[in-house]
Amino acid sequence: MTEQSTAAEGLIRLSAADLAEKLRAGEVTAVEATQAYLDRIATVDGGERGVNAFLHVNAEEALAVAAEVDAIRAAGGAEAEALHYLAGVPIAVKDLIVTIGQPTTAGSKILEGWHSPYDATVVERLRAAKMPILGKTNLDEFAMGSSTEHSAYGPTRNPWDLDRIPGGSGGGSAAAVAAFEAPLALGTDTGGSIRQPGAVTGTVGVKPTYGSVSRYGAIAMASSLDQIGPVTRTVLDSALLHQVIGGHDPRDSTSLPEPLADLVAAAKTGNVEGLRIGIIKELHGEGYQAGVESRFNESLELLKEAGAEIVEVSCPNFQYALGAYYLIMPSEASSNLAKFDGVRFGLRVLPTDPPLTIERVMAATRAAGFGDEVKRRIILGTYALSAGYYDAYYGSAQKVRTLVQRDFDAAFELADVLISPTAPTTAFKLGEKLDDPLAMYLNDVATIPANLAGVPGLSLPGGLADEDGLPVGIQLLAPAREDARLYRVGAVLESLLEAKWGGPLLAQAPELATSGTLETQEAK
Ligand code: GLN
Repeated sequence: MTEQSTAAEGLIRLSAADLAEKLRAGEVTAVEATQAYLDRIATVDGGERGVNAFLHVNAEEALAVAAEVDAIRAAGGAEAEALHYLAGVPIAVKDLIVTIGQPTTAGSKILEGWHSPYDATVVERLRAAKMPILGKTNLDEFAMGSSTEHSAYGPTRNPWDLDRIPGGSGGGSAAAVAAFEAPLALGTDTGGSIRQPGAVTGTVGVKPTYGSVSRYGAIAMASSLDQIGPVTRTVLDSALLHQVIGGHDPRDSTSLPEPLADLVAAAKTGNVEGLRIGIIKELHGEGYQAGVESRFNESLELLKEAGAEIVEVSCPNFQYALGAYYLIMPSEASSNLAKFDGVRFGLRVLPTDPPLTIERVMAATRAAGFGDEVKRRIILGTYALSAGYYDAYYGSAQKVRTLVQRDFDAAFELADVLISPTAPTTAFKLGEKLDDPLAMYLNDVATIPANLAGVPGLSLPGGLADEDGLPVGIQLLAPAREDARLYRVGAVLESLLEAKWGGPLLAQAPELATSGTLETQEAK
């Protein structure tokens, strides 16, 4: 390896916070950092066994933004002083979030080649902070899935094992961060799509409190559940990014008026003494992989040693959460996706024989443009909403949603923060669950309750399962608007675990995550 490539290797492994410090200290330029990430993407993302985390790479614009930051810093003065802490730190954006100047596909053929005429609010905020946007990341079509295999543009591979799934729907964002193709990424989480990919790739993912990050410009899947959030390698990095994208937005009617407490300060608090941490009885044990369970227990021990009080809470209605979610989510999606009609956006397919009516154009377009999982959910949703079945299905699911919320209320009387494994298993093999939708849906059993209740959740790496050596995720949940608690507990647990491992978990990743070149990939 040349000296230069070793330096780039070191650069891409820095946390966003450490990179920001080096940029401020003038030890490295934003162009160097951005170029190092673009080189990494070029090396590991493409080809037959590439990670395929990116659907679009935005090299030119990213470098231009980086150069602008460098010029401002070099000139010094008030403008340099006013630069955002993360200015010049690159980021990748899930391709469900609209961006000017880059395509937005939602992982679907129906939006192939479509360019948004406006930026999502979160993207505007990244631009205001002068963070170079590296590109758009792969996802399950319209964010429906737990493995990124439902993308119309091929699956993303898990950097820990290229034959395994990176989770979903935001597998692209998680894999990009895990494979050192980006220090930061944005995801969206409707039922776990930030947290579950975080768990299976050994990264950190946060679903903020519903309404605390604007959804304006996130292509809607299920509007009452969707939330944009950070995908990072450290808890502090998530807090930093959360602070950039959060805050009130008049263009989102469900946006909370008041800001959250200081998340970065919370991540730096450094103690959990006296904090009551509640184990959710229903979200571990039976049905959870043995290695997931043992890493979970280990984290509980560490938190106890650090002075937290561990209590057990019961949320009996969580057993119905998955069922309720798979009625509410498809119902809302069936309505949200009605706008993809072959007229307003993207693909238009004309029927091969006359007559050329609007209905037939719409049918031909949707038949060709939507994949199987999206069709399955539209059918499920329209059925659940149909007259005669509405009360029995959609209505009942909404009642369950209220019961799940009440379970959380009761649990948060007994505990300040709740804890569970993020996902019942480690990353499964590509193709393993593709033909079994119910098995796929079960991956979200631990993440979905938070979406139904609107409460925030954070997943952080809890170690490797003994039986397969793959990452396990630990999930923390807090009451609505108390996202700061997640960062406080998460940062403490992260530092205790890293002390045990002798460094970040990703440093232990075989192959891609540590190799820096395609050599090991080709050797396979
Ligand atoms: N995997 C879940 C689903 O398929 C969650 C998706 C998401 O959070 N976007 O619905």
